[in-house]
Amino acid sequence: MEVKSACGFFMHSEIVGEIMIKDLEKPVMYLKGMGEKRSELYEKLGIKTVYDLLYHFPRYYIDFTSSVPIGEAPLNENCVVKGRIVKKMPEARIRKGLSVYKAVFTDDITDLVLVMYNTGFLFKSLETDKEYFLVGKLTGNLVRKEMNSPQIYPADMTELVQPVYRLTEGVTQPLLRQTVRNALSVFNEYIYEPLPKWVMQENNLCSLEYALKNIHFPQDAHTCEIAKRRLVFEELLTLQLGMLMMKSRSRISCGCRMKNLEIDEYYDALPFTLTDGQRSAIEDCIRDMQQNCPMNRLIQGDVGSGKTAVAAGAAYFAFKNGCQTALMAPTEILAAQHFETLKEFLEPMGVKVILLTGSMTPKAKKLVKEGVESGEYSVVVGTHALVQKSTVFHKLGLVITDEQHRFGVEQRALLAEKGDNPHKLVMSATPIPRTLALMIYGDLDISVLKELPKGRQPVETYAVTGKLRERAYNYIKQHLDEGRQGYIVCPMIEESDSDLQNVKSYAKKLSEGAFKDYSVGLLHGKMPSVKKEQVMTDFKEHKIDLLVSTTVVEVGVDVPNATIMVIENSDRFGLSQLHQLRGRVGRGQYKSSCILITDNVTDEVRERLRVLSKTSDGFKISEEDLKLRGPGDFFGSRQHGLPDLKIADMSHDPDVLKAAQETARKILAADPKLESRENSCLKEQVEKLFERNLSDN
Ligand code: ADP
Ligand code: MG
Repeated sequence: MEVKSACGFFMHSEIVGEIMIKDLEKPVMYLKGMGEKRSELYEKLGIKTVYDLLYHFPRYYIDFTSSVPIGEAPLNENCVVKGRIVKKMPEARIRKGLSVYKAVFTDDITDLVLVMYNTGFLFKSLETDKEYFLVGKLTGNLVRKEMNSPQIYPADMTELVQPVYRLTEGVTQPLLRQTVRNALSVFNEYIYEPLPKWVMQENNLCSLEYALKNIHFPQDAHTCEIAKRRLVFEELLTLQLGMLMMKSRSRISCGCRMKNLEIDEYYDALPFTLTDGQRSAIEDCIRDMQQNCPMNRLIQGDVGSGKTAVAAGAAYFAFKNGCQTALMAPTEILAAQHFETLKEFLEPMGVKVILLTGSMTPKAKKLVKEGVESGEYSVVVGTHALVQKSTVFHKLGLVITDEQHRFGVEQRALLAEKGDNPHKLVMSATPIPRTLALMIYGDLDISVLKELPKGRQPVETYAVTGKLRERAYNYIKQHLDEGRQGYIVCPMIEESDSDLQNVKSYAKKLSEGAFKDYSVGLLHGKMPSVKKEQVMTDFKEHKIDLLVSTTVVEVGVDVPNATIMVIENSDRFGLSQLHQLRGRVGRGQYKSSCILITDNVTDEVRERLRVLSKTSDGFKISEEDLKLRGPGDFFGSRQHGLPDLKIADMSHDPDVLKAAQETARKILAADPKLESRENSCLKEQVEKLFERNLSDN
């Protein structure tokens, strides 16, 4: 038994070698130099524990070995130069509260002017004739170069690769670096090794200790790569273990095997003829639901491909077999919309459909829940409220999740636990490239809706700069004057108050200015649900002509009369997301258009937006997206409802993915529930990643 004291604050009396994640779960507050105030700042970065800190990976590194002569450094790009200050100019007070400090900096061949603002203290501390590195952007021209507010490092420092972290106000790079360093030195011995030895050997991986040290403070690009590869592998392995475990659990047995009953009356009653894809997707479901093990099927179809009619068909089949169906949508707006659609499709055939959402009054909820429990309602449509413990089903046979990329994987699992291993149907409009689909859905069966219903015309798409905004407005007005409706979408990246303010004031400006003769509505995520629904209903009923909105309209909103969409700051979105947004128009018989406005006209943005004007094939678009952004962004974004990955999004290496998948299979083949001692750390990590206990039941 060894007693350790870390940071002189807490005592440790556990056997070394039995060290688990919990040892790194000490609050960062107890690290040297921290205290309460600072740890509150760190919390804003999502860092509460030492573990969080060590897993707060650098966004990138500054490599001082890559410094270039000033004369050769590119203009307007970040670079590292090395030299010394030869002359300091006197402080210049530009106006109250703004002082400028300038100095001549040289590498003995070329000079540059170093410019700093309001940093007198730092400026004064700089010594002339001592060598420094400057990190920043060179501006100016060939004869007169300038560097504004660069980061400055003494050239004799020992670490020539420096991590750069995501920061928050009050936490600087040097501070964060120092904190990580402290944590590494104090907790070094507490860094356990979660991977079994054979896994490390077979995949040529370094230890976790080495990886954590070198991801933060690599000696060079090579050690950094080694560290990264190990961390990526481990994260993907953990993810894959979790996914496979969840799946195997849902494969056990089926409590609601169904009989082969005809549903022709459903096909006959629909107001349209199903596409071949829709028809065969429904047939896939019907076949699955007659098997011994529960259906586990994904319907993948581009926006507007008619996934709801497929869901309704499956629900009707369950109904005929005396089972209930639960349909879960990511937002109240969508839940309400699905409710309306399913009611329209199914009620004529005697199916009772009900809506259950979080914003209903407790009394209304109670009534609905009673009806669900007694079996009065056969189809329940709702939001997350559906998964709450107090909802009891009479006989839940089918669980449908729409646009599942909005959900946590866990939520899907939760709902599935409600019945006696019910059948599961997932609808997704996000076309996912094959490798990723494999990772995310594993052995899920997939039905693809390839074609759109007949008569749909592709949405004409243009990318323009803000200069043409007035013309875009006029174009909208033309549509509105013809009795159509339109959207203007503004991104709210951070969901921050200032962004919100922007959307609000933009809407106000439009309703008082360019669109004062029209009815303008506003929709954003921070509105109370009741309000949102009211706005959406008003828009559907054409009480609103033009809807100014954040991306809440993104998923599945169906208003066929809407034929024009303008997207502001369109460069802020990924291609797939733009495609989803664009899918809100072109849903009826009218010709529709989409105008992408951006003032960010780099080649890259132009190239990206051009893809959208060229094609309306969601799969092609996602492939382009993948090419342009790399798989990193795909993993990184929360699009797939995957747990947040910390590092896998830095990986552009499909081989690691494959190796991790392979290994996960091997591990589970020998130890399906990760019960062996060798796998105990991995088990903890899986649980941590999925935030819930996968083996409880
Ligand atoms: P998504 O796949 O994007 O969820 P929806 O299910 O919302 O698409 O369907 C989009 C629109 O197309 C709806 O108005 C729906 O009624 C209509 N629709 C679905 N299937 C067909 C079809 N086979 N023929 C004509 N219209 C259809
Ligand atoms: Mg939909």
